[in-house]
Amino acid sequence: MIPFNKPFIIGKELKYIEEAVLSGKISGDGMFTKKCQQFFEEKYHFPKVLLTTSCTDALEMAAILCNIKEGDEVIVPSYTFVSSANAFALRGAKIIFVDSCTNNPNIDAEKIEEHITEKTKVIVPVHYAGVACDMEKIMALAKKYNLFVVEDAAQAIDSYYTFSDGTKKALGAIGHFAAFSFHETKNIIAGEGGMLVINDSKFFERAEVIREKGTNRSAFFRGEVNKYGWVDLGSSFLPSEIISAFLYAQLENLDIIQAKRIEIWQRYSNAFKSLEEKKCIALPNIPSFADNNAHMFYIICKNYEERTNLIQYLKAKDIHPVFHYLSLNKSDYYLATNPKIDIPNSDHFTDNLLRLPFYYELSKDDQDKIIQLILTFYLPC
Ligand SMILES: *Cc1c(COP(=O)(O)O)cnc(C)c1O
Repeated sequence: MIPFNKPFIIGKELKYIEEAVLSGKISGDGMFTKKCQQFFEEKYHFPKVLLTTSCTDALEMAAILCNIKEGDEVIVPSYTFVSSANAFALRGAKIIFVDSCTNNPNIDAEKIEEHITEKTKVIVPVHYAGVACDMEKIMALAKKYNLFVVEDAAQAIDSYYTFSDGTKKALGAIGHFAAFSFHETKNIIAGEGGMLVINDSKFFERAEVIREKGTNRSAFFRGEVNKYGWVDLGSSFLPSEIISAFLYAQLENLDIIQAKRIEIWQRYSNAFKSLEEKKCIALPNIPSFADNNAHMFYIICKNYEERTNLIQYLKAKDIHPVFHYLSLNKSDYYLATNPKIDIPNSDHFTDNLLRLPFYYELSKDDQDKIIQLILTFYLPC
């Protein structure tokens, strides 16, 4: 069987977990959590990183930091994971869905401004497949209307955006806040895990409090206050050292993981070039301002029926590709309290996008098998 995803161990994951246990501390904010946070701050120039139990949790922290209240409006692409919207809906926000670009599932930056009202508080660009949204345009809108930008960078580790003046920044370093995921389906994994990036120093302290159940316990442990108590809203957003130990071993091998993923991505891309030229399928579009972190390889089928047939065809050979999001504006939860709206590009990706098996240990032989079968499936085209 060739699965869609497969978790992997690449270095000292198990050794570091053992070390954490033997050190006598496996709750949060021990040595491995600090090492991970420091790694990210140094490598990507993130001003402050806090590891969290998931990207979802990091997004919820961002929603609290943005002071989201009942009735505030938050702009989110319709083609995304539920957490991008849920984190803000949980705090009473009204979610305003914006369509994807025509040739790329990312939010269409040209369509954001028409949705901005007096009540708008936040824009949530989701860097789909690790490919940057048009951040220069989005940041300009945020500045013009005094909005927060929370990057859903769940898929975007080790990816960059190039501004028109040539400066390059890591995704996650551009908005006010960014949320990353280390779920087993992402490039760098820890089972369940995530991090919040805080790019404006005025939020450092509050973020730390929110993550520690609304207490100033972190300041207490640093000796900055002589007792700690309930000072703000918060929850338990910090991961155990067991998670961080696993994650740190992956980080030590980040460049190796990324090099391998880029090789896999490139092989798929080269193999399907001819199908794209004949317009049988479309391939990922990577805008000139974006890097490719090889998070995902997808193809866009001509229609829903063709995609269903291709999935059946591959599954019969024990290969497991998967489609992805269902437009959130058509979800049961949204439609229970909102009228129907039409978001066509999002529906296009909902119906036609197919993700191919992609994981660190995907062998050349298995990848060739997938490629050959897809080329055969499209022979009549
Ligand atoms: C994976 C993912 C999430 C959720 O990440 P968790 O760590 O599982 O909470 C959120 N948004 C996007 C775009 C994702 O791909």
